[in-house]
Amino acid sequence: MKLQCQVEIVNRLHSNLNIRSNGKYIKSTLALGKEPKREADYFIIHFSSVNKTGTKYSVKRLKQVFSKCLNEGKTTLRFEEPPHDLCVKSEAIQLKCFMRLLKSCITGDVKNLQIAPLTSLSVTQKDNAPTKLVIRDRSDFPIKGLPRTLESLYINGLKLCNFRRDILLLKQLTILDLSNNAIEKLPAEFGRMPNLCELYLSNNQIGVRGDVDWRWLLGPQITSVLKLLDLSGNKLGHLPQSIWKLQKLVTLKLDNNMLEKLPTTLGRLSTLRYLTISQNEITSLPCSILQCRLEYIDLSENKYDVKETNMAPIQHTPWDFYIGSLVDIASKVVLKQKFFYAPNIIPRTLVEFLDNANMCICGAPVVNNSYYMNKEFELKDFFRVVVFNSNRKSTVTVQCYFCSPKCFNR
Ligand SMILES: [Zn+2]
Repeated sequence: MKLQCQVEIVNRLHSNLNIRSNGKYIKSTLALGKEPKREADYFIIHFSSVNKTGTKYSVKRLKQVFSKCLNEGKTTLRFEEPPHDLCVKSEAIQLKCFMRLLKSCITGDVKNLQIAPLTSLSVTQKDNAPTKLVIRDRSDFPIKGLPRTLESLYINGLKLCNFRRDILLLKQLTILDLSNNAIEKLPAEFGRMPNLCELYLSNNQIGVRGDVDWRWLLGPQITSVLKLLDLSGNKLGHLPQSIWKLQKLVTLKLDNNMLEKLPTTLGRLSTLRYLTISQNEITSLPCSILQCRLEYIDLSENKYDVKETNMAPIQHTPWDFYIGSLVDIASKVVLKQKFFYAPNIIPRTLVEFLDNANMCICGAPVVNNSYYMNKEFELKDFFRVVVFNSNRKSTVTVQCYFCSPKCFNR
């Protein structure tokens, strides 16, 4: 059996001499085999890009196996001679298979095991676990299914209507490009992708039915890793307020949709630097966007010049800001102090209330969204690069909310 993995070799003699290992895991193959003529004489051979001939370790000289972190796909094999510790990282299921086989070799329970003689073992380029797969035609799909070792997967232009659920099994995946298909929804479980940094969904049909299932956006894993989200060309009529949950998001592409408004929670995306919303139907921006530290924003081809008829300033007095329910006042404190909250601590309705909170032009939380006023802002005063239609003045209508009479009168 061969295991595709990453290995760091620690020479214990060096650690005794206080020479520290370089801490680098090298892409490797571990092969478990037996001597051709001698029964019950098993070996592990370690091949890597820097060691193509391989180093042979006798299973009999195995001193200790550290298997506490097997579920995380990690183990350490300590050999007596040579005095090496092989620190192994691999896909958890494959690693467990390998370890089960190794255990059988150690205990001698190998009656039903197929172990190749050592002479037939070799490592060719073909054996190396693929980390990248590009599929441009349906016949490109591997017969055995998508390799679990994939780190980047590109499936483009196939008119796929359904999200392939086997993608959910690719725990190493960091880049997923499904652009130019006809996908309408992502399953909620997609939010559990643990390593996905870049997601390209441009030119699909996500918004085509109007009622989009955005539950995957709430997954605790994806919210803490996703850096790039491309939803251009999806006929989206709106974005969920929960978009701010993507707490690592740097790039958000929303071009060529049917958006009239952006979520008022946008300002809570503190890591966002690149935002493109060209070719939509946006008439005004939420004031919370002014809290984002954007390097680049593309606003071209929208409808800022369409004056919204129902957007006349609402008549009210500063007193309106003083009166708030207890829930309003408490919520403001929770948000301002950034207290942790979750559905297992407070009622779900309160969680939603807090999640949907808006922002004042000063950045403070606003939970009562009924008072707002449209003001013109020069976005170039706020962001480094602002892309506009060249024939247009560069100010934009911003829908402003207020946390207090002070901000209202500013
Ligand atoms: Zn304020």
